[in-house]
Amino acid sequence: MRHSKLSEAVRSSSLRARSLPRSAIREMMDLAVGRSGVIHLEVGESDAPTPEHIIQGAFESAHAGWTKYSANAGLPALRALIARRMSSRWGTQVASDQVVVTTGAVGAVFTSIATVADAGDEILTPDPGWPNYEAMAHLLNVKVVRYDLHPRNGFLPDPDQISQRITGKTKAILINSPSNPAGGVFPEGLMARLADIARISGVYLISDEIYEDIVFDGQHVSAGSLGISDRTFVISGFSKGYAMTGWRLGWLICAPELALAATRIQEPLYSCASTISQKGGEVALLGPISTTENFRNTYRRRRDIIVDVFRNTGMLSVVPAGGFYALIDISRTGLLSLDFAKRFLLEHNVVTVPGSTFGPNCEKFVRVALTIEDDQLRVGLLRLRAFITSLAQ
Ligand code: PLP
Repeated sequence: MRHSKLSEAVRSSSLRARSLPRSAIREMMDLAVGRSGVIHLEVGESDAPTPEHIIQGAFESAHAGWTKYSANAGLPALRALIARRMSSRWGTQVASDQVVVTTGAVGAVFTSIATVADAGDEILTPDPGWPNYEAMAHLLNVKVVRYDLHPRNGFLPDPDQISQRITGKTKAILINSPSNPAGGVFPEGLMARLADIARISGVYLISDEIYEDIVFDGQHVSAGSLGISDRTFVISGFSKGYAMTGWRLGWLICAPELALAATRIQEPLYSCASTISQKGGEVALLGPISTTENFRNTYRRRRDIIVDVFRNTGMLSVVPAGGFYALIDISRTGLLSLDFAKRFLLEHNVVTVPGSTFGPNCEKFVRVALTIEDDQLRVGLLRLRAFITSLAQ
C-alpha cells in the first residue's frame, strides 16, 4: 500500500525530476556497497583532508560569530582576495565587483548558464565532458550541442568544429581546462582562438577552470588571462586545489553588470555560499602557496604511476597533462564501458567510471582517478591492465 502510494507520488512529480539521467558513477558506487576490500578508482575528490590551518581558521571564525548569511555575492573580504589572486595570476586587473562567490564550482556553472541562456537556447559542451553540464542544461530546459574531444587531438577541442556548431540559438560555449575526464590542458593559442570565436560570434564563453591548480605539464592558461570581456565567465573554486570539496565553495568572475545578474540568480537558489566556508576560503587564499603545490606534486606522482603501468600497452592514448583523472582505452575488449566497469568490479573488486557517463565519444574508455593512495592505485591499475588484456579479442 505504502509502496504503491509512493510510486503514484513519484509518477506525478515533475517531468524535470523524473527525466534527469541517473549518473553511472552513482550506479557503480551502489554496486560496490557491501563488498569488502574494494579499490576505489572512481572518486573525484582528494584523499587528503583539508589542510589544518584552513579548518582551524574557519573554526575560530564560527566562534567569533561568522555564522550568519553573507551578502548574496559573498563576503567583501573574500571577493577582494579572489580578485587579488586572479589579478596577479592573469596579469590583468580584476575588481571585487567582478567576483561572485558560489556554492562550489557547481553553483558557479549553474549560475553562469542560468545568467545567459533561456529555455530553448543552446549551449555547446564537450564530449567527453563532465555530465553535470548536461544535467544543469536539462534543469534549465537549455539544449546541449556537443563538440568532440578526440584522443588524436590530445582530447582538445577543434575550434573550427566549435565555430561550425554555433547557430542563431547558441548562447554559450562551455569549455573545461584542465578537463574532466580527459586531463587535457588547453595551450594559449587554443584558448585565444576560442575566445575569438566567442567574441566574433557574439556568444558567451563559460570557462570551467576548477582544476587550474592541478597541472603537471606546461602551464594552465586561463580564459581570464586574455582579459575578461563582457562575454566571459571564468569559474574556479577551492574544492580541488585545497581539498575542500565538502565546504561547497567556488566562484565565478565576469563583467560587473553580469556579476550583478548572476548575484540576483543566486538569491532564490541558495542565497549565498556558507559564511563559515567563506571564512575558510579567506584563510586558504592568505595561506602558503605550498598547500596547493604539495597536492599537485602528489597527483603528478600518481599520474606517473599510470604512465608507468600502461607504458607500451596502447591503453593510455593520451597522458593527462592536468586534473584528477585518466581515460583508459578498453576498445580491444569489445565491451561497452558500463558492462566492462560492472564486470571489472564484480570480478576484480575495483571501481572505475564507465566512459559512457561522459558522452558517446567516451564509450570505449573507463575513467580512473588519481585520488587514492599510491600503492592502492598501482594495484587497481595492474588489475585493470590484466583484465583488459585477458578480454582482448
Ligand atoms: N567542474 C568540473 C569539471 C568538475 O569535475 C567538478 C567536480 O567534480 C566541478 C566542476 C564541481 O566542483 P565543486 O566541487 O567545486 O562544485
